[in-house]
Parts: sequence; structure tokens; C-alpha cells
Amino acid sequence: MTQPVRIPHYINGAREQGSDARLAPVFNPASGAQSGTISLADQATVDAAVAAAKAAFPAWAATSPMRRARVMFKLRDLVEANADQLAAQITAEHGKTHGDALGEVQRGLEVIEFACGIPQLLKGETTENIGAGVDALSLRQPLGVVAGITPFNFPAMVPMWMFPIAIACGNTFVLKPSERDPSSSLLLADWLKQAGLPDGVFNVVHGDKVAVDALLAHPDVRALSFVGSTPIARYIYETGAHHGKRVQALGGAKNHMLVMPDADLEQTADALMGAGYGSAGERCMAISVAVAVGDKVADALVAALAPRVRALRIGPGMTTGMDMGPLITTQHRERVSGYVDLGVSEGAELVVDGRGHVVAGSELGFFLGGCLFDRVTEHMRIYKEEIFGPVLCIVRAADYEEGLRLINEHEYGNGTAIFTRDGDAARDFVQRVQVGMVGVNVPIPVPAAFHSFGGWKNSLFGDLHIYGPDGVRFYTKLKAVTSRWPTSIRSGAQFVMFTGE
Ligand code: NAD
Repeated sequence: MTQPVRIPHYINGAREQGSDARLAPVFNPASGAQSGTISLADQATVDAAVAAAKAAFPAWAATSPMRRARVMFKLRDLVEANADQLAAQITAEHGKTHGDALGEVQRGLEVIEFACGIPQLLKGETTENIGAGVDALSLRQPLGVVAGITPFNFPAMVPMWMFPIAIACGNTFVLKPSERDPSSSLLLADWLKQAGLPDGVFNVVHGDKVAVDALLAHPDVRALSFVGSTPIARYIYETGAHHGKRVQALGGAKNHMLVMPDADLEQTADALMGAGYGSAGERCMAISVAVAVGDKVADALVAALAPRVRALRIGPGMTTGMDMGPLITTQHRERVSGYVDLGVSEGAELVVDGRGHVVAGSELGFFLGGCLFDRVTEHMRIYKEEIFGPVLCIVRAADYEEGLRLINEHEYGNGTAIFTRDGDAARDFVQRVQVGMVGVNVPIPVPAAFHSFGGWKNSLFGDLHIYGPDGVRFYTKLKAVTSRWPTSIRSGAQFVMFTGE
């Protein structure tokens, strides 16, 4: 059995082991074995990372946008050339299949590609002659040190939603990745250095609430981007705002797919399999509720789904041909399995039971089989709460209006989809649904990198969405300049409000 490796912090361009006072294990979820150990950062480690980022800020902010973009172009090439290595690292600590991990890398890469356009994105606006000899312009400047706090389920992509744009805008960055799969962030740190990023511009501290609280209260941290569960997102938003910081905090989800009577049921069932069980349901954009309009649709959908769920190929993410890997930890598997117990006791009909699923050769891995519930109702906890595992709930709605009401009354509003051939229904859905990201016959409508990603209601706290144009807005301050040169100044003081007339 191999010894767990020590996974270091990355501060001021160098790896640092950190203190031995508080250590945490990192597991390979497919084997159940401990693969690594991290030192959970204390206040002093966070202070060192923020100090390095603060010291690096003036020179980096003064670096031209073209030079900053060149670093992003080189990073892009490095991530693309080493995508397989990064994906393997993701699979080793998260457990998702290698193909799914490659998809994660690709979606992160797209944000780096967006950040390559930063000279264009940072262009301000000018109005000539707003008064006699007076010109106005607006420009965007970086904030300073900004921090990112990220979840376990996308250990490479979610950091890449944040730091490429933050850094390209001229900020310096401290990343606090999930303590459950921390190593991908170190590969990214190495490639940023190879791409020519000066030391101190990008730093990684591993840790838990202690590190997060130190970042939230640190006077030199100007802004925080958070992605994770809703209770923590709310806490980050409130605490960060209390300390005067700009905050965007993305939270949990319960994404519904509305299945209309005219939908192509085979296509819909295939879409639900990928969206419900891909990445073992550990995606914030996973579909965890299918709302079937009418009993006929519900019966047909359950008949189409049940054999597919039973046939899921479940095993280690590096084994070819797997549909689904393990869950992240044994505790999370127990939690998800506990929700299946709860659903049964609440009276939902468990059509496929994945509890106790054993993968031959990986008996100690954190695996759970796919689970399918029918006849779930809006009053059940399995409907109201985020489960974050391979559990799909079918809810039966009498008609379109009831389905829409269910979605609009749910506390989460991250993603949703409608499956239909009816253009009128689809258009009405897009107009009236109270959700931030909407798919029409697209099960997981994650916006492309040049749009922005964000939910509504309890799925996002803050005003700006993440990456895309909102990413540039979030990581910059707007400055408005009004200028007049001496030759154009008329004599005499002006005591009335300037109007430009
Ligand atoms: P989590 O909230 O447990 O952890 C997220 C981050 O917060 C981690 O870095 C963790 O160390 C830190 N953290 C945990 N507890 C904390 C505390 N008490 N105080 C301060 N910081 C704390 O989330 P997770 O389990 O890693 O990720 C899964 C969750 O993330 C799900 O709810 C999922 O829906 C959500 N998620 C949302 C999006 C989105 O875009 N909206 C994307 C991915 C994941």
C-alpha cells in the first residue's frame, strides 16, 4: 500500500508544506484508500498568501493587458497539452470518470480562452465634448487581492471560472480549493508559473472554515468569489459584506426538467440519464427532479428510465466504459443513502434501489448505485432538499401550469429545462420560469464562457454572475473621468451645477 503524499500550499511561487498542527486526509474515492494529506491553513498561512498577493499586485496591475493576455494564451496551451494529466488528477481525488473529467477541463479551458481577449474586454467608453472642451471617459481597474473558495465537485473547472478573468483583469489571487480534492489546483499553479505569471499573483492555501474565515475578515482581501452549498454561500455573502468586501456566492440547486406530453420520450430519457446520473449526480446543474405532465407521460418515462438506471455501468473513473464513478466520501455516500431511506419512509415509490451497490474489485470504494423515485410530491424532504447524488425524483403534474408553479415555488433557481416540441410552451416557459439558466431540449444549460453563469433565488447571493462579461465586471472597479484642459477653461467661477450646456 502506497503512503499518502503530502499536498502542499502554493505561496509566492513556491510550494510550502504548512504546519503539522491540523492535518486532513484526502481519499481516492474509487479505492477508499487515503492518497494524500493536507495541512489545514491557519491564520499565519493565510496571512502569508495574502501578503504575497498584495506585494505582487502593483506591478501586475501595471502590466499591460496585452502582456497579461499573453500569459493566458500560454496557460491555455499548457492546459490543453496536459488535459489528460489534469483529468487523471481530478478522477483520482474526485472519482468522476476520466471522460467526464476531460469535459470539466474543456469547460474551464473555455474561460481561459475568454480571458485571452482581455485587452478588448477592458476597453472603456469615451464621450467627446460633453461640455465645451470637456471630455468624459470610463475605465475599469482591478480591485487588488481577490480570493476564490471552491467546492469539491469541479476541482479544476470552478477555480478556472474565477482566476483566469481575475488575473487577466490585473488582480492577484488567493485560491482556497476544496479540502477533499485539492491537488488539481497545484497543477494549475505550476502551469501558470510556466506560462510566465510572476510569483505572488496566484496562490493556493488548503484548508477549512479557519482559512475561509481568515480570508473573509482579512483587510487586504477586496473581493470573494464562492461556489458551494447554500448555507455556506449565504454565510460567505453576509460575512464578506459585513467586512466591506464585494462578494458573489453561488449556492446549491434542485434542478427540474419539465417533460411535456409531446416530448420525444426516448430522447428525454437519454437526456435525463446523463443529467441525473453523470458525475454520480454531484453537479450543481444536475437534473434531480423530472416533472412529468400527465400520468401517461410519467408512466412512459418511468418505463423508459428504469432499465437504463439498472444498466448504469458503475466503477472506478479510470476504467474504460464507465458511466458513473463513486461519491466523494463515505460520509457523503451515507448522507445520500439516508435520503433514499427517507424517501421510502415519506411514501415515494422507489423504482430502482441503488443502496448497497458493490463494485467487484473496488469493495471499499464510495460507490452507490443509481436510484429512481416515482410519485414524489412537493411536500417531501427528498423533493425540497438538495441530495447531490445519483437519485432522480419523478413528480407527476396535472398540467403545464402546475409544473411551472412547482419550479417557481422551489427555493432554488439554478438551472431548469423543458423538453417539448411545442414552441409556444417553450417560449412561455423561458419567459415565466424563475430560474437563472434555462434549457429548451437541453438538459444541462451551462452557459458558454462568453456568457455568464448564475442561478436565482437561494442559488446565488450577490448581484453579478460568474465568468463571462459579469466576471469582468465583478473583478474590476468602474472609474469615470471628466477632463478639461487649461486652454478651454473659460474665465470665472461657476457656482451652478455643471450641465454641459
Ligand atoms: P461546501 O459548501 O461544503 O464547500 C464549499 C467550500 O466552502 C469548500 O472550499 C469548503 O472548504 C468551504 N466550507 C465548508 N464549510 C464551511 C464553513 N462552515 N465555513 C466556511 N467555509 C466552509 O460545498 P461542497 O460540498 O464542496 O460542494 C457541493 C455544493 O456546491 C453543492 O451544494 C452544489 O450544488 C454546490 N455547487 C454549486 C455550484 C453553482 O454554480 N451554483 C457549482 C458547483 C457546486
